[in-house]
Amino acid sequence: MRPIKRGPVPQGSDGENKVYTQYGQAKDDLKNSIGHFCSYCEMNICNQSDIEHVQPKSSNEVLINSWSNFLLACKSCNIIKSDNNDDRDGYVFPDEHNTSFLFEYNESGISVKDDLPEEVKTLALATFNLVSLNRKKDTAGRTDDRAFARLKSWQKAQVSLNDFLELPNEPAMVRQTARSCDGFFSMWLQVFSQYPEVKRLILEEVKGSAMECYDAQVKPIERLER
Ligand SMILES: [Zn+2]
Repeated sequence: MRPIKRGPVPQGSDGENKVYTQYGQAKDDLKNSIGHFCSYCEMNICNQSDIEHVQPKSSNEVLINSWSNFLLACKSCNIIKSDNNDDRDGYVFPDEHNTSFLFEYNESGISVKDDLPEEVKTLALATFNLVSLNRKKDTAGRTDDRAFARLKSWQKAQVSLNDFLELPNEPAMVRQTARSCDGFFSMWLQVFSQYPEVKRLILEEVKGSAMECYDAQVKPIERLER
């Protein structure tokens, strides 16, 4: 899960901090600040993005229109999460924690890493379950749209890796490879784990990546605090 830096409250044309009277007004600002990707599953949501309230709308009126409580989510993550968390306690969230080292990917999906410290694992698992991150089928029995898109992206990453390895020292190849990534950034970082220059560009190409969560080799720093 890509750790996200939302940035300060956007300013209006008058140079003052924007005040949102309806949370939907923040959508363009969010896309400009953190990219048009689900903050949880990392799927491209250019056409179907929801404003996600980290702390549910129902839990605190002040937070309904508060920039610091906004992320973007896909329909699935947003609907499944709903108002099932009372607040931020007991979970990890990509705008608050370093979520870069908690999950791992393979062809069949995503899972919480096994070798995490127990207390970190508990928090990661809570968030994993909060949005059913590895759900295979939706409630209508169809393939979960996130699982479908993630598998396509996984396959594309494998093909891209094979292409990349033909010319790994070519700067244009590095750029082209990084720009082939259109979501599921953490999964691509795992596939290209040996190639820091590709990983760096993948993260830099999308707005709002919290680069401080990665070391000089763009390896996730294994510490929840940031
Ligand atoms: Zn999602």
